[in-house]
Amino acid sequence: MSEQKGDFGLIGLAVMGQNLILNAADHGFTVVAYNRTVSKVDHFLENEAKGKSIIGAHSIEDLCSKLKRPRRIMLLVKAGNPVDQFIDQLVPHLEEGDIIIDGGNSHFPDTNRRYADLKKKGILFVGSGVSGGEEGARYGPSLMPGGAKEAWPHIKDIFQSIAAKADGEPCCDWVGDAGAGHYVKMVHNGIEYGDMQLICEAYDLMKRVGGLNDKEISDVFAEWNKGELDSFLIEITRDILAYNDTDGTPIVEKILDTAGQKGTGKWTAINALDLGMPVTLIGEAVFARCLSALKTERERASTLLNGPEITPVSKEDRPQFIADLMQALYASKIISYAQGFMLIREAAKEYGWELNFPSIALMWRGGCIIRSVFLGEITAAYRNNPNLENLLFYPFFQDAIHKAQSGWRKTIATAVTSGIPTPAFSTALSFYDGYRSKKLPANLLQAQRDYFGAHTFQILPEFATEDRKVGDSI
Ligand code: NAP
Repeated sequence: MSEQKGDFGLIGLAVMGQNLILNAADHGFTVVAYNRTVSKVDHFLENEAKGKSIIGAHSIEDLCSKLKRPRRIMLLVKAGNPVDQFIDQLVPHLEEGDIIIDGGNSHFPDTNRRYADLKKKGILFVGSGVSGGEEGARYGPSLMPGGAKEAWPHIKDIFQSIAAKADGEPCCDWVGDAGAGHYVKMVHNGIEYGDMQLICEAYDLMKRVGGLNDKEISDVFAEWNKGELDSFLIEITRDILAYNDTDGTPIVEKILDTAGQKGTGKWTAINALDLGMPVTLIGEAVFARCLSALKTERERASTLLNGPEITPVSKEDRPQFIADLMQALYASKIISYAQGFMLIREAAKEYGWELNFPSIALMWRGGCIIRSVFLGEITAAYRNNPNLENLLFYPFFQDAIHKAQSGWRKTIATAVTSGIPTPAFSTALSFYDGYRSKKLPANLLQAQRDYFGAHTFQILPEFATEDRKVGDSI
């Protein structure tokens, strides 16, 4: 009797790998598990994987011999060198048409390179964004695969089975060529930075101007979570703010106000600069974390640098203040997603990727950290018009931002006069005002460039004459 062969191989038995294997096994797939530290394979088989359709492998060769053809092998290991090392170890044991999937947080240029290298060897390489953390991996992540399209028919079933579902549809579809899957995951993470920063700014204003305590702020987020802001991040913020330590102090009050970062937000901002796209909100969200990290300097500055006195809003004005704040958050969020999709659109042009915009929005609709009801509207916008130039041109978002505008402006004005930083709210509004400006002061800027650097300028057609032509200098 021949030994049972696995449907899917997975390398990397840390949190993500273990949970994804259990998820796949629950969906009826037989998974072959391998890990660099092989003792973890046995430990996994004897514990979490016991009684499930999971087979262990004790070497790369063993893993490859236990898989059905074409072999489908996913790596969920530390991004960077470990991915290249495993690819090098796998290749001698693979045959043409076999598939390697990198599900880690790899930077998309690495995925482009690996895709091209493996293509020459006849191996189909897929770089897949995986979002949703441990819980998502176990019960339904958002999966964003891209790379060798010939691989998609072979992995579609397993990917869409294990992925989260939103309104009955899997939060997983083919993204596009080469590094497109990891690119889209990178922008997802950048947007996540933006969403988190916006929520923190709302919290700060409620606390310092609104005079609300943590429990009251939690209640406001609970209320917001019932409407258009309904999302995972608002939901967890509600819960965090309601969580008290054993001594009754809200846990959030005991946490150092310094935020870390792993780099995917920074990658998004750098790429936006490279492509010349004004993705200002993500940029500000990254810088806000950088500023938070200057704790010692900020402490010194707080004793040396003055600002205005804060006048807390009265109890009577509180409901209006909170309503305005919600509009500021909603409008800024619309801008952030509009900017994110502008970036993805430009990347598709720049890198020659054919991207599926409605699917990208749907993939983020569930399973991932930025999941929200709002992404349902974005999916609808792109389904209505896959070539939509900008989300702000879609009637739903146009109406939403028009309605939110007055509260948004009032909130930022209050923040400015109170001396409370709202980098994400403010940059979103500046972008909006810039984007809707037919005329910007860049005429003067271009004249300055020409004055000191002979960069030339373009004369507006209505002023072009024999003496003043396009490309003239002062
Ligand atoms: P991780 O801590 O990023 O990586 C641990 C895994 O990588 C282990 O299997 C480890 O093997 C292996 N590894 C580490 N260094 C290695 C090396 N030099 N050579 C070979 N293997 C090496 O694990 P994770 O948190 O489960 O994440 C896996 C991937 O998913 C990462 O790329 C991560 O960025 C991404 N991701 C994580 C999350 C999350 O919430 N954790 C969410 C989305 C995506 P040993 O056991 O032998 O050390």
